[in-house]
Amino acid sequence: MSEQFLLITDVDAIQRYVFESARMATIVGASEIVKAFDVWLEEEARRAEYGALHAALSGGNGLFVFGDSKKAASFAGKLTCEFQKRSGSGTISVSEIIPFEDDAGFPAARDAALCSLQRLKRLGRAIPEALDVGLSRQCQYCGAESALPKSVRKGDDERDIGTACRKKLDKRKEIKNAMATQHWAEDFNDLADTDYLALIAIDGDGIGARLKNLQSAIAYENFSAGVKCLLDQAIAAGMNTAKGEYPPFQLLYAGGDDIVIAAQARYALNFALAFSDAVQTIDRSWDWTADQLPIGFSFGISITHSKFPFRASHAIADQLLRNAKNTAKDKVWPEGAIDFAVVTEASCDPASLMEDREILFDNSKICFTGKPYRLKSGEPHSLSKLKEACKALDRFPKNQLYALRNQLNASAWRTNQLGGSISQEQTKLRLADYLNYVSSRVMRVQTQKDAWEKACQLLPVAEGVFPHADLADSLQLFGEF
Ligand SMILES: [Zn+2]
Repeated sequence: MSEQFLLITDVDAIQRYVFESARMATIVGASEIVKAFDVWLEEEARRAEYGALHAALSGGNGLFVFGDSKKAASFAGKLTCEFQKRSGSGTISVSEIIPFEDDAGFPAARDAALCSLQRLKRLGRAIPEALDVGLSRQCQYCGAESALPKSVRKGDDERDIGTACRKKLDKRKEIKNAMATQHWAEDFNDLADTDYLALIAIDGDGIGARLKNLQSAIAYENFSAGVKCLLDQAIAAGMNTAKGEYPPFQLLYAGGDDIVIAAQARYALNFALAFSDAVQTIDRSWDWTADQLPIGFSFGISITHSKFPFRASHAIADQLLRNAKNTAKDKVWPEGAIDFAVVTEASCDPASLMEDREILFDNSKICFTGKPYRLKSGEPHSLSKLKEACKALDRFPKNQLYALRNQLNASAWRTNQLGGSISQEQTKLRLADYLNYVSSRVMRVQTQKDAWEKACQLLPVAEGVFPHADLADSLQLFGEF
C-alpha cells in the first residue's frame, strides 16, 4: 500500500465554548454551530480533491486520512480558518500530519497524532489569554468578550452583545426559522413550563479506551459511525416517551459520546429508561467492533427549579454522572448506571448532596438511597425496578412518602434519631424499625399494605442500602406510568 497521511482535529475547550453564556438560546446556537461545522468537515474532507477518509465522533473531533501530504496540509489550514469564521471566538487544534504505510502502521500513527495534538494544546494553554479588561463594555450574554459597537448592533439587540454570542443567536434563529412549524422554547423557564427542570448529562462508558484499541482507519470510521447512529436512535427513543404538542426536551450539547439535554423533570427518568433500552436492543443487533463488548451509557440528572443557576445545576449533573460512572465500573454494570437528585437551595453544592446520603462507619457505611441505579431493565437494583415500585405506590399517600424521605438522610437521622455514637448494626435495626413504623402508621387499608409490600419486594433493603427514600421523588419524576 502507498504512503498515507493522518491528522486529528479537536475543537478546543468545546464545553467552555458552548456553555460560555448560560442562556439556553446561546447554548443551543453554539451547539448548532459545532454541528454544522461537523457536516462541513465531513463534506470538505470527502471532496474529490482531498479524497480523505473521515472518522469522527462529532463535536469538531475528527480523524482524517489523506493520500497526499500537501492536500492534508491545505485541509488543515482551511479548517482552522473556517471554524474561527463560524464560531467568532472558538479555536480548533489540528495535529501534525503523520505518515504511515498500511493498517499495521495505523495504531502508531494515531498515537503519534494524538500526542502531537496534546502537545499543541499544552503549548496553546501556556500562552496567557489577553484579558479583556478596561473601560470597554462587556457582552451581557457571556461576560467574556467585548460588546460590539452600537453602530453594528442589530435592531433586535436589547443588550450589549459580543461577536461570538451574536453568531450563536443568529445560528439558533436560522435553525428555528428552518423549522417554522415546531414550537421552540425560548429559555429554560419556557421549556420547564410549570414543571421543574431536569439537566441530563450522559456519557459513554469506556468509549475512549475502545477507540484506542482500534487497529485500522476503517475500524475507526465504522466504530465512530456506529456510535453516532446508536446515539441518534437512543436520543430519539428517549424523546419519544413524551407525547404532546410541545417537545419537552432540548438537546444542549453533543460532543461525541458526551451529551447534555434539558427537559421537563417529569420526563427525565422515562427518557433514561427508553434511551438505555434502545442502546441495549440496537447494540445486540450490531456487529460493533472486533472486541464485541457491549456498550453502555451512564446518566447524571440534576432536577432544579427552572430559575436555579444553570452552572450550579450543570456542575451537579456532572458530579452525579461521575458517581454513576464509578459505580458502573466498580460493580461491573456494562450497560451503565444512573444517579439523580432533586436539588434545593439547601443542598445546592455537590459535596453536601453526597454527604447527606450516607453515614460512614469504620469499615462500612449505611446508605439512605439506592442511587446510583443499574440501567439494565429487569435486574435487581435497576431503574426499571424502581419504576415498578413507584407504580405500585401510585395511589399511596404521597405525604407519607415525603415524610419518609425527609427522615432518611444522614443529617436528619443524626439530629432526630440518634444523638450519640451508635453502632452500624443498631443503626440498621433502627432504620428497619423506622420503615416498619412508617408503613404501619400509614397503612390502615389492605390495598395500601399490599402496595407497600410489593414496593419493598421490588426494592429490598440490601447490605445497608435503604432505597426507600428515593420513592417519593422518583414517583414524581416518572410522571406517568
Ligand atoms: Zn458574549
